[in-house]
Amino acid sequence: MERKELLYTGKAKKMYATNQETVLLAEYLNQVTSLNGAKKEKIEGKGELNNQITGLIFNYLAEKEIASHYIQEVSKTEQLIKKVEMIPLEVVVRNTSAGSFAKRFSMEEGIDLPFPIIEFYYKNDKLDDPFINDSHVKMLNVAKDEDVIEIKKQALEINAALVEMFRKIAIRLIDFKIEFGKTADGKIILADEISPDTCRLWDMNTKKHLDKDLYRRDLGDVIPVYVEVLQRLKNM
Ligand code: ADP
Ligand code: UDP
Repeated sequence: MERKELLYTGKAKKMYATNQETVLLAEYLNQVTSLNGAKKEKIEGKGELNNQITGLIFNYLAEKEIASHYIQEVSKTEQLIKKVEMIPLEVVVRNTSAGSFAKRFSMEEGIDLPFPIIEFYYKNDKLDDPFINDSHVKMLNVAKDEDVIEIKKQALEINAALVEMFRKIAIRLIDFKIEFGKTADGKIILADEISPDTCRLWDMNTKKHLDKDLYRRDLGDVIPVYVEVLQRLKNM
């Protein structure tokens, strides 16, 4: 597979066309951002960690019969993915209170929720990815009612599989963000990435943050903990 023209440069990845119409190449960058890109830093080695972690997680989900856009890793920082039409939603699933949720409800972080909570954020940088509900999704033509039902169903299945996977490596999955896209034949599948950039991961024993909150909250280096997550996944 040949890498062709650059199609898009995002905050964490570059997307390239390939010599196959239905396949893209995602290059994971050595960049970390928060506050929708307002805070930004170059971090050597992050791209290859997230490329590998995402690949291992998408392969694990495939074993559990959860489809995604992932095809295969082609270099340390690059992976081939199925091209999809992205649904402009950040779908957040929460098992435990943290971050903006804890703040919104004036709740301490670390309280287990009675059931997984699904939230939608409209993926729109100009609007700063606002929190929206099902009616907004419909009004904005982001997705049809039946697509919303399918997205929620898949989000809960993905959550159940990921909670179990992380439990095996002594990590508590607090919350995470995923994105979905539509294939040419109209199927909704999991796309984008799943990595410590997009999940809150706490060590089950020490409660140590093994994710991007270290950067967001100036708590320390992300690289050693991303290495730790990768090693645990490899040894699973
Ligand atoms: P952002 O756009 O938020 O800065 P990234 O740097 O991760 O994020 O850029 C990757 C972009 O590619 C995102 O906009 C994401 O929605 C999009 N994308 C992810 N997977 C696919 C796919 N399979 N096909 C097309 N676009 C994708
Ligand atoms: N998240 C993400 N990208 C975003 C916003 C959130 O990957 O643009 C993830 C984040 O890593 C966390 C979950 O979504 O695992 C919920 O984040 P929250 O709404 O609490 O956001 P924050 O506290 O970062 O504002």
